[in-house]
Amino acid sequence: MPAPDFDLSYADLPKALYTLYQPAPAPAPDMVLQNNALAAKLGIDEKWLGSQNALRFLSGQTPPDNYAPIAMAYAGHQFGGFSPRLGDGRAVLIGEYVALDNIRHDIHLKGSGRTAYSRGGDGKAALRAVLKEYIFSESLAALGIPTTRSLAALTTGETVMRQKPHPGAILVRTARSHIRVGTFQFARLHEDQTILKALADYTIERLFPEINSVAPYEQFLAQVIEKQAKLIAKWMSFGFIHGVMNTDNMAISGETIDFGPCAFVEGFAPDRVFSSIDHHGRYAWNKQPEMAYWNLTRFAESLLPLLHTDEGKAVVIAQEQLSKFSNIFTAQFNDLMLAKIGLSPDMDGAPQVLSNAMSMLAQHEIDFTSFFRRLTDMAAGKSEHGFLALFPEHTKAGAWLQSWQKQPAARSKTARIKMQTLNPVYIPRYTQTETALEAAETGDMAPFQNLLSAVTSPFDVRQKLASLAELEQDGETTVQTFCET
Ligand code: AMP
Ligand code: MG
Repeated sequence: MPAPDFDLSYADLPKALYTLYQPAPAPAPDMVLQNNALAAKLGIDEKWLGSQNALRFLSGQTPPDNYAPIAMAYAGHQFGGFSPRLGDGRAVLIGEYVALDNIRHDIHLKGSGRTAYSRGGDGKAALRAVLKEYIFSESLAALGIPTTRSLAALTTGETVMRQKPHPGAILVRTARSHIRVGTFQFARLHEDQTILKALADYTIERLFPEINSVAPYEQFLAQVIEKQAKLIAKWMSFGFIHGVMNTDNMAISGETIDFGPCAFVEGFAPDRVFSSIDHHGRYAWNKQPEMAYWNLTRFAESLLPLLHTDEGKAVVIAQEQLSKFSNIFTAQFNDLMLAKIGLSPDMDGAPQVLSNAMSMLAQHEIDFTSFFRRLTDMAAGKSEHGFLALFPEHTKAGAWLQSWQKQPAARSKTARIKMQTLNPVYIPRYTQTETALEAAETGDMAPFQNLLSAVTSPFDVRQKLASLAELEQDGETTVQTFCET
């Protein structure tokens, strides 16, 4: 079967923005996971994806014949400190593909070897890191959160050293584009401002074609701000903590990117820091809007020369757009959180019911996902027993439940259906994910496959997946996450 029609529009941009890079061939590649549902959605033939030709292409053994792949350059603020030269240090843009819906997607390999941007790194990825990204990105997609996707995972036949040896692997990732805030920061560093303009024009044409010619860069900034504000609100409504919200890990498309130390909060602790490398506590669950705003400010700074020739006026334009972030985020977040408990902002008392719930969750570190799901089950007719069992003592929870039940809409059919689409049964929990990753590295993919099938249909209860549905009684919850790199 013929290969899909890949090409590479990014290579038409100024050469400062990338280096040509053909990955070194993996010695003994083997397909571990193939995402046929995503392939079908994009219009990529699953027979091709499962073929030896695809395996050779995706493991660097056969270069594309009509263009040269590239490693993208970018800069970035990492934990607040600026690095002028980062870039794809262990990744390559192997091609782009115009999908069935006429949308162009990047086909990106992560773990494909050293590039011009690798610095001290080996350019490789461990299987467990690849599989962690696979399961989290597919979980987010199934929850309806914009994200890069995982098309396939393969092992390379190499061993990768981290704290211990791991099987080497490559993730085949798709995205609307891998252009990041850090890509704009990198472009802005150049004296030659045509580079920045070319990048902005390309990004607008590809990702925001609806932008018209009246103040296009201001519209661009506004759209990026809006998408990020809504993305962070969605993350938080599902208890997702990104954990490494550096400017090089914020995609302009508004997709979630980079799943290093990420986690779903289990016992709710709004300000707990999970990532072992996040020494200043920048990226706790409740810090994410502030950090997104900080990153967007860096983005706006990068765009200044395009916003107005007079820098003072450019700053005013940027500030005006940035000032909208907070309202967009808050409105979206409140709507989502209220809808999770079957309420809406126009109901008297609803915000109070929600804020009481959140304090109660935080006070006892109640499992976030179980709380909302058991409430959903109750709204669907189950007894309150399962819900109350989440709490160490029932008086306060019972009183809250009464206040919730007094809200007229709490039991309406529309509200209930909405609750069922916002409150998952299955998320990649810490202990279950760890078990699945450990097993996968020893060659047993069964636990991973099980968890993957749970989290990719996260709202559908399946009896045989019951053990993955709730926090196990004495189950360990996320304590600390590692970058997996
Ligand atoms: P991350 O923390 O995954 O967002 O990566 C930050 C930067 O470090 C990016 O430029 C990566 O390409 C680079 N990097 C991370 N791990 C490696 C590695 N093993 N080899 C080379 N570069 C890496
Ligand atoms: Mg990154």
